[in-house]
Amino acid sequence: MANALAPEAHYNFFSSVERSFDKAAQFTKWEKGILEQIKACNSVYRMRFPVRVGSSIEVIEAYRVQHSHHKLPCKGGIRFSEEVNQDEVMALAALMTYKCAIVNVPFGGAKGGIKINPRNYTPFQLEAITRRYTAELVKKNFIGPGIDVPAPDYGTGEREMSWILDTYMSLRPGEVDGLGCVTGKPIAQGGVRGRKEATGLGVFYGLRELCNVKEDMEKLGLEPGLDGKRVVIQGLGNVGYHAAKYFYEAGSKITCLIEFDGAIYSEKGMNPDEVLKHRQETGSILNFPGSKNLTINMEGLEVDCDILIPAALENVIDADNAPRIKAKIIGEAANGPITPEADEILAKKGVIVVPDMFLNAGGVTVSYFEWLKNLSHVRYGRLGKRFDENMNIHILQVIEDLTGKKVSAQERKFIAHGADEVDLVYSGLEETMYTALHEVREAYMKNPKINDMRTAAYVAAIDKVGASYEQLGIFP
Ligand code: GLU
Repeated sequence: MANALAPEAHYNFFSSVERSFDKAAQFTKWEKGILEQIKACNSVYRMRFPVRVGSSIEVIEAYRVQHSHHKLPCKGGIRFSEEVNQDEVMALAALMTYKCAIVNVPFGGAKGGIKINPRNYTPFQLEAITRRYTAELVKKNFIGPGIDVPAPDYGTGEREMSWILDTYMSLRPGEVDGLGCVTGKPIAQGGVRGRKEATGLGVFYGLRELCNVKEDMEKLGLEPGLDGKRVVIQGLGNVGYHAAKYFYEAGSKITCLIEFDGAIYSEKGMNPDEVLKHRQETGSILNFPGSKNLTINMEGLEVDCDILIPAALENVIDADNAPRIKAKIIGEAANGPITPEADEILAKKGVIVVPDMFLNAGGVTVSYFEWLKNLSHVRYGRLGKRFDENMNIHILQVIEDLTGKKVSAQERKFIAHGADEVDLVYSGLEETMYTALHEVREAYMKNPKINDMRTAAYVAAIDKVGASYEQLGIFP
């Protein structure tokens, strides 16, 4: 097994995205040519470049795929993984197109990948690889605030984004909007507060909203709300950890956590922060006090639970293990964790699958906020915060004078608070996930022939991308 979090991929990821697309396309009004254009990958840039690793030269294989240009810039993360190949990057770029459309983020879809295992390189070597990759993108005009804007993905984070920014800025000096060439940056380098947790928080907001829909919960035999729900999460990286944290804080029970070296189970539920601390101390989530080890990690996906959240890699639920899945709701925090065959099996079992292209769109949504911040050159809240606070205090004073009653110091602080950057980012994210869930649900409810939320999400996305091709003309 090449990567213990995913069964070996013998299938073609891009064609499985095409299959889901075709299934949904029949429910839309668009002519064949427009559908073909939406589906196609517009540009594929495959690179090979040399990097000195220790005393030898290594040839690095890397990609950047721009799936669609119906809106610009193109947008999507860059992953560092040994599994990277052209097919995978094309599929992930296509998912970005549909993802941005669903959450009304005005970007085309893209994705990048470098075929390395970052654990095998020193930070210095990773920096050399990242900077060279960025230089290759600059050379071919494949990066820029109005062209194509990378972001973190599997195996990358703030550190890699700051290397990309610095390389871009030194090759394009004086570009006034240059900060917008990449998102997911550290705050000190033009990042936005709330970006790091955005995908996990978006997963939480999306599933919380679904769990608030009484009629959907009744069909599953569940109570509305998150309190007491048993949640299983695969992958304790940035997305999985933050999702786990928000579910835990909302009163759900994190009963099973799955990592590449095994899984841990506790009926009572676990605090993800304590698990993370345990991993920092011991190097593994296994043997977490009060939990039971499951030595075959993939078995964790099959434990009885209410919500299963795969938050690692693609293709982890396939025709083989899908019949054994006991979850009532599956929230796709990862991109493409369920194969089309598994999708059919789960739909027949009555499992609600909340699709990746909606559920994990929180990351790109907050990337959009970061990009807007970079173009506007001003921090969110800088202009209005103090005005709002003064106004709130004034209103409170008037009410207190009129009623002769006083609120507590704690209440006063809460009411007076003007929105900071992070408050505004969370508010924008919550609104985005809420609106998108109801749009997808509406497409699902409207057509009785649509029997899963993924198809409904594709229908919603295709309609939006189709409309913008129609406005642009096919050959603008
Ligand atoms: N890599 C993330 C995704 O797959 C974020 C992309 C972005 O922020 O551009 O959605």
